[in-house]
Amino acid sequence: AEEMMIRSEKMSVAGQLAAGVAHEIRNPLTSIKGFLQLLQAGIDRKEEYYKIMVDEIEKIETITSELLFISKPMTDDKKKELLSELLSDVITLMKSQAKLKNVDICMDLDEKQYIYCDRSQIKQVFINLIKNAIEAMKDGGKVFVVADTHKDFCQIDIIDEGPGIPENLIHKLKEPFFTTKKDGTGLGLMISNQIVEKHNGSLEIYRNKEKGSTFRVIIPLKREY
Ligand code: ADP
Ligand code: MG
Repeated sequence: AEEMMIRSEKMSVAGQLAAGVAHEIRNPLTSIKGFLQLLQAGIDRKEEYYKIMVDEIEKIETITSELLFISKPMTDDKKKELLSELLSDVITLMKSQAKLKNVDICMDLDEKQYIYCDRSQIKQVFINLIKNAIEAMKDGGKVFVVADTHKDFCQIDIIDEGPGIPENLIHKLKEPFFTTKKDGTGLGLMISNQIVEKHNGSLEIYRNKEKGSTFRVIIPLKREY
């Protein structure tokens, strides 16, 4: 068992991902096959089985579309972007989902800061983080998006008022397929982390003192700004 553990710790991200994908896709496939066999045998309750099968197929669709996003070659498509504009776009996009869950998104942005980034990829990072923040608050609450500029980097915090993250789980969140949600994929934070690292930045995760969590994105600034 000890050897197994050492080996799995050494497994590359690609290896972990492949193992996870196989597992995550096999389960719904097995279930679809089972229901098809029941239907083939001419059983009743067809409507119910069709619905389960569609749900299972949707699960596979979600996983494959997230994986396609990862496998997209990271075209070095970085441009100078106005951070506040990029963040406002994402917040506008997330407002309706937030409203449904009784969540307010509050922002405190530096209006003039530019960053050098792949706009659609960095947007994806903030979509993932804000989505998680909304999902963490079952009874609603506030999400704060706070951007600060430092000498060599800018720092964007996504702060929620959810239950927070148990200390012993923090290091697991960026692993592929780690999820505590019924229909989560466990890919959002892994993808976000990869994107931020490709921008020479980092994604830090904190448990807040009072309540909730803070997901901090650090992106280095270029001198010429
Ligand atoms: P998913 O959202 O599909 O579960 P993610 O990679 O986005 O996958 O997140 C992985 C896990 O990290 C979540 O299932 C949840 O347990 C935890 N997590 C992420 N964001 C938060 C948050 N804001 N508050 C508490 N837990 C979180
Ligand atoms: Mg997520």
